[in-house]
This record gives sequence, structure tokens and C-alpha cells, in this order.
Amino acid sequence: MDFLKLGFELLSVGPICDTCLGRRYAKLGTGFTNAERGRAIRVLWAMEKDIMITEPDRCWVCDGIFSRAGEYARRALELVHGYEFETFLFGVHLSPYHEAVEEFLKKRFPSPWAEPLQRDINRALGRAFERLLAAEGTEAQVDFRHPHIRFTVDLWKGGIEVYIAPAYFYGRYRKLVRGIPQTHWPCRHCRGRGCERCNYTGKVYPTSVEELILPAFLEACEGEGGHLHGAGREDVDARMLGRGRPFVVEVEHPRRRAVDLEEIAARISREAAGRVEVLDLRPASPDFVRRVKDLRARKRYRALVSFAAPVDEATFRQALEGLTGEIRQRTPTRVRHRRADLVRKRCVHEISGELRSPTEAEVEILCDGGLYVKELISGDDGGTHPNLSELLGVEARVTELDVLEVLDDL
Ligand SMILES: [Zn+2]
Ligand SMILES: [Zn+2]
Repeated sequence: MDFLKLGFELLSVGPICDTCLGRRYAKLGTGFTNAERGRAIRVLWAMEKDIMITEPDRCWVCDGIFSRAGEYARRALELVHGYEFETFLFGVHLSPYHEAVEEFLKKRFPSPWAEPLQRDINRALGRAFERLLAAEGTEAQVDFRHPHIRFTVDLWKGGIEVYIAPAYFYGRYRKLVRGIPQTHWPCRHCRGRGCERCNYTGKVYPTSVEELILPAFLEACEGEGGHLHGAGREDVDARMLGRGRPFVVEVEHPRRRAVDLEEIAARISREAAGRVEVLDLRPASPDFVRRVKDLRARKRYRALVSFAAPVDEATFRQALEGLTGEIRQRTPTRVRHRRADLVRKRCVHEISGELRSPTEAEVEILCDGGLYVKELISGDDGGTHPNLSELLGVEARVTELDVLEVLDDL
């Protein structure tokens, strides 16, 4: 298609606005709006015909959408009144009319320089929205990947929907006492409704790491709900010490995003009263949920082990040595009802220990993430091989377990 012929033909078939005319030339020249491109073509057309022309009031291509962008933007802004955001994005659903016109243009007025109507409208809405924000003395940027708010304008029905993206925060938690699960654990008998067995609480444990951490975030962000995503989890009866375990907190429908994280950390410590602490809080992107959940970091454990019969020093030393290296571990009996039953290979990198008495020892283990330490000691009916019980020839079991360190680079 000839450069000028394209525009001149479009101008002669019906009233078209500068933006829609210029959109057939969108990829040509930088620093221009489509309206400016369209205006340029219109001027050349008027010169060639030696007539006086102005932009028509009506446009058969967009049906006046671009002139209504400001109105849509104003309605969008009302929808997010009271919400804090730094980034946004507009999207549109075209009406069947607009879709038909786009198809028609593609066939009848093909242009290698055109851009889709949808993109042009999204941009016009975004610019109109930015102008409104500027008038209020605030600003926000368009973000195509993770906008804080996302508007969807239905050009057919005229509606606007808004999606408020969750706020995410990274941190690490230390669990200083035993008997607390990572997340709320609903009572199996009543499925959380409350019954005699759970003392009408609906849960197996009175609290959880999540329940001790989340409220401070929800309140600061004025959110409507949320989750704690942990990088794995320690057993309910194990402590989580050292620099803690990485997690991401997700707060749904937040009204505030710029919150005082030091204050939140202080409040969590105060209210958890020595049970849980959080470190290293910082804002995170949504990708971090996956990164934290997929984390397979090495861990250092301390286990208190008791033996069913007395063990001597030499046997104990030799058994520990036999535990370094590759371990083949079947999914433990105790978690087989909720985890896939398979055999994993995990490594014990370092192990050391000391007998406290002939029937008790303290053991420190550095191993791959995903190795079950209790089964490494007990053997779990042969499910873990090698294991300490087998190497000692005496039944051994963990009576106390602490995660001393999660060795990640988050
Ligand atoms: Zn138009
Ligand atoms: Zn119950």
C-alpha cells in the first residue's frame, strides 16, 4: 500500500478522527502521538485537494472512544479512592463493533505500520489517568508485569472492573518454642467448624506462625486477608533458630502498601511474646512466592536422640561416619497421606555428635533441603537408608529437633 494513498483513501470513505487515521501509521516516526500523525496526513490531503478541512466530530472507526478516555479515567480513579498504589495498567475488552472494524481495516486498508486499536486505547486511558493523578498532585507509573491496580474497561457495556493486586513482603521467621505449626491446622473432626475435641476452636493447635505474623501485616496494609508462604516448613515440634526461615507474606486487597516494616516486626515480637520473631522484612514482587516455595536450601539441624539400649562411644562414632553421603529416603510414613510416595536421594554433608549418656546423644547435621531428619535417625521401618538405628544396631529416635540454619541466598 502506497504511503499517502492509504490515508487519502481512508479519509474519503467516511468521517475518521486524527487518532484513528494516525494509528495506520503508528510505527512511523518517534515522539509523535497517533493524533499528530493523523493530523499530518489530513493536512497533506487538504493541500492536495485545496480544501479547508477540520477533524470531524464523529469517527466511524473508534465511535468516539478516544474523546471519552477522560471520562473513563475519571470513573476508574473513583473506584480506587482510598487505595495506595504506585503502578497501574489499563486493559480493554473491545465491543463486537470495534472488533469488526479492526478486521475490516486489516482487509480493506492493510498497513505495515499500523498498531492494534486495543493498544492505542489502553495508552489513551493510561495517559488520561496520569493527567488526573497529576491534577491531584500524585503520580503512578504504568507497569505491564505486576501493576498494583489493573483496570479492565468493557467498551461494549461501558463498565470498568478493578483488580487490586496483593501486596507482598519478604522476611524470615524464627520460631523459638515447640508445638506451633507453620500455618493454621483445621480440626479433622469438625473440619474447622468447632467441636468438643478441638475445644470449639476449629483447630488442632491454638496458634501458628502464620497467625502470629499475619495480623500485623493485615492491619498495617488495611488488607482483607492473606497468607504466609514459607520456604518449606519445620515440624510442629521443631524450633526454627538461627537467621530464621524465608517466607513471603501476601496481603489481599491492601489499602496501604508503603508500611513501616520495622514497626510491624516490633509488633509481631511483642504480640508473639517470645514464640516467634521476624527478621529482614522488605517489600517483594509476586515472583518471590514461587522463589521462596521452590527454595531447596541446605539446612543445619540439631537433634537430641535417645537410644533403646546403651551405646558405646566407638560404635556411636562409627555409625555417624556411616551416615555422611547419599541417603535414599522413601516418603516418611507420617506424611505419606499428604505427600507423593516416592524415594528421594538426599545428601548428608556433615554430621557430628556427642553422647550425653549411654542412651542419649546430641547430633548436628548439615544436609540437603527435603531430607527428613527424624527418619534419618529412626530408619522409618527401612524407608530411609542408611539410617542411624541400623548403623548402631539399636533403635534410635529424635526426641528434640531444632533447625539451626536455613542456608539460602535470598
Ligand atoms: Zn477515531
Ligand atoms: Zn473440631
